[in-house]
Amino acid sequence: MLSVEEALKRILAAITPLESVRLPLQDAFDHILAQEIIAHDDNPPFANSAMDGFALQSQDTQHTPVRLKVIGDIAAGHVSGQTVTPGTAMRIMTGAPVPPGADAVIQIELTNPSDEWVEVLQPVLRGNNIRPAGEDIQKGQKLLSPGDLIGPWETGILATLGYDHVEVIRKPRVAILGTGDEVVEISAELQPGQIRNSNSYLLEAAVRKAGGIPTRLGIARDTVESLREKLNEAITYDLILTSGGVSVGDFDLVKDIMQEQGEMNFWRINMRPGKPVAFGHIHGVPLLGLPGNPVSSAVTFELFGRPVVRKLQGHTRLYRPQIEVIVADGVQEKAQRRHYVRAHVSLEQGRFVAHTTGKQGSNLLTSLLNANALVIVPEGGTQILPGQPARALMLDWPEVETLE
Ligand code: AMP
Ligand code: MG
Repeated sequence: MLSVEEALKRILAAITPLESVRLPLQDAFDHILAQEIIAHDDNPPFANSAMDGFALQSQDTQHTPVRLKVIGDIAAGHVSGQTVTPGTAMRIMTGAPVPPGADAVIQIELTNPSDEWVEVLQPVLRGNNIRPAGEDIQKGQKLLSPGDLIGPWETGILATLGYDHVEVIRKPRVAILGTGDEVVEISAELQPGQIRNSNSYLLEAAVRKAGGIPTRLGIARDTVESLREKLNEAITYDLILTSGGVSVGDFDLVKDIMQEQGEMNFWRINMRPGKPVAFGHIHGVPLLGLPGNPVSSAVTFELFGRPVVRKLQGHTRLYRPQIEVIVADGVQEKAQRRHYVRAHVSLEQGRFVAHTTGKQGSNLLTSLLNANALVIVPEGGTQILPGQPARALMLDWPEVETLE
């Protein structure tokens, strides 16, 4: 059986980021940039006033108070044809271009203005309250590189530079397939022996949260024909996720079809919940076969599916961070396999403390409720006593570049 780390390494080695597309800036948010961003202009494009006040010549204010003649107004968005000469000033608004001749702006609060005259109360230094052209960004400057994530702030930079379209890595389209004769649509009236297809909905939301574009393809019956038919539809996607049908039972068909129509890399990982995880390709499309048990399916998606969906998007930060926590209630259960225990971690008096979410069966969906972390119990029958430390995977912290 593979270790979690080995399995993840093998999976990610087989995944390469998708190709780039050109998107309107407003749609590029949360994508990874696939081009260099060079400034084609200065920002600000022209010298402008940082204050509402008067544009003047600083040498006129060496001896204050001094009276200057007001020869005009400049509002933001307007360019004045007038020149400020010795003994004169122009009323100017924040963001308006500094008129020729002026080398400083005094804020209105330091003057006594009237319609025709302004009394300047303090000396003003050359350049005062003037934002020079190119102060922020110079033409030709490189601001962003391929691999950078476009967040709100990068979007602001791109907008100011006039990039109305940008080249970004496209988001993966992910096919989600349920399997099992007992599994029915969630709106169906349950017949004896049936359960609702919770996995596909859970995975759909999880894929969306990871930045992918999910599509549920329904439920394959436990026959080779049904699964083949569904997977035939799935191979038009960038990634296929199945749940169920990968353990050792007679009806566990996903593995068989992977072997028939592509190749299977592995199908068992030394962990719980979720030993039976299969990875391979069919017709060149990566397929991650997750276990049927809902919690196994959820946890293995977090550990393996999420990094895959992120790598396809061009992210280099693929993994949730691990931190040391105090496990308040401990984990008494001994497991030979690595155990990922659902827990809620919060900061208590300066320490991160984990409280497990109660009974941890891989069929118990309620163990996921209120869980924001997975406490890692090492393989080999380790016990964690109440108050002892352990490592925890923080499911609601931003991703990091390395596994540890
Ligand atoms: P399997 O891996 O197919 O043997 O399924 C393991 C367990 O998960 C069984 O109890 C299934 O009924 C359950 N299961 C399988 N698929 C789903 C699903 N889509 N939604 C909820 N439970 C499922
Ligand atoms: Mg099944």
